[in-house]
Amino acid sequence: MRYTEPKEKSAELLRLALSHMGKHSAAYNPLTFTLWYEYAAGTNAQLSAAVDGLVKRSVLVDDARVLALCKQHVFPANEESLERVRSSLDLLMQGVAKTAHETSRHAGDYGAQLSELNSALATQDSQLIQPQVDDVMAGTLRMRQSVEQLRSDVEASQQEVTRLREALDRARGEAILDPLTGVLNRRGFEQHLQAMLAEPPAEGSTHVLVMLDIDHFKKVNDTHGHLIGDRVIQGLGEILRATVKAPRGTAARYGGEEFAVLLPRTSLAESQQLSEDLRARTKALKIRNRSTQEVLVTVTVSGGVAAWRPGEAANELIARADAALYASKQGGRDRITLA
Ligand code: GH3
Ligand code: MG
Ligand code: MG
Repeated sequence: MRYTEPKEKSAELLRLALSHMGKHSAAYNPLTFTLWYEYAAGTNAQLSAAVDGLVKRSVLVDDARVLALCKQHVFPANEESLERVRSSLDLLMQGVAKTAHETSRHAGDYGAQLSELNSALATQDSQLIQPQVDDVMAGTLRMRQSVEQLRSDVEASQQEVTRLREALDRARGEAILDPLTGVLNRRGFEQHLQAMLAEPPAEGSTHVLVMLDIDHFKKVNDTHGHLIGDRVIQGLGEILRATVKAPRGTAARYGGEEFAVLLPRTSLAESQQLSEDLRARTKALKIRNRSTQEVLVTVTVSGGVAAWRPGEAANELIARADAALYASKQGGRDRITLA
């Protein structure tokens, strides 16, 4: 679930988001609200960095910028599903706004009736008072019905918003996962890498990138076929999912038979240990014939480990981890090299 703030906290964020929305020129629509809500919550590092950059340059966030920021940092996955959710949310908000408008109109009428009754009471003429009291009673009933309608509309919308959010979360999640292994795909990797580098590591720690590549994988395909090759890739995916878990790190399929591991706020020694662990587990992986249980394939993996240098760009970090991986291959494979 993308939003886990309890109601009170979310009310505070709502207030902050409204205040931001007021200072910028974009329309008050659900998309703009989402942007400023996430910014206020500080849970979306990429978004916050992008918005801070604009604010620092005194750039007003208009509708076009809201759309661009949301596409890039909030809903990068799937524009179509974003559009669907957006129009559903628009409809929902229109519905609630209409009922709220009705309720406030009734409240206005009701106020007028009360003040007439007040004047009638001042005259103390009972003939005048009775019809006024009847009007006020009827008005009270209408108000109650109207408020009740508003309450149930709001409740229904809240349920619908929750459902839409969950659908959106799923769409976003699926778009950055590799279907074969269940780890992040290349796109997810890029996003997580950017997010990791956007937050400087604490004093005494560093961000680490590990690149892993299965050794002589072409031979596995050539000897046993692609389906068995796929099972090897899946096996390594399982090892990665079991070994590299949030918040310690994130694993991704970088491409083909190559994987990447992101380890934020760690040390080189710890990362090397984890990489050696992954290497040993891969070596112990046995792909068996499903009916005879005969072991068909075992593989090894080579790795390169690079610690981020302050100011270093993502592609430079990847290049250094890759170079270390290449050194492992040159050195005879089944080993980990530090950049
Ligand atoms: P090295 O030890 O130098 O890494 O040798 P290698 O054979 O592993 O490397 P190479 O890059 O020559 O071959 C990788 C092979 O991986 C080639 C490609 O057909 C195969 N491959 C890539 N993606 C997949 C996949 O999703 N499934 C299967 N079965 N094979 C794949
Ligand atoms: Mg390989
Ligand atoms: Mg390769």
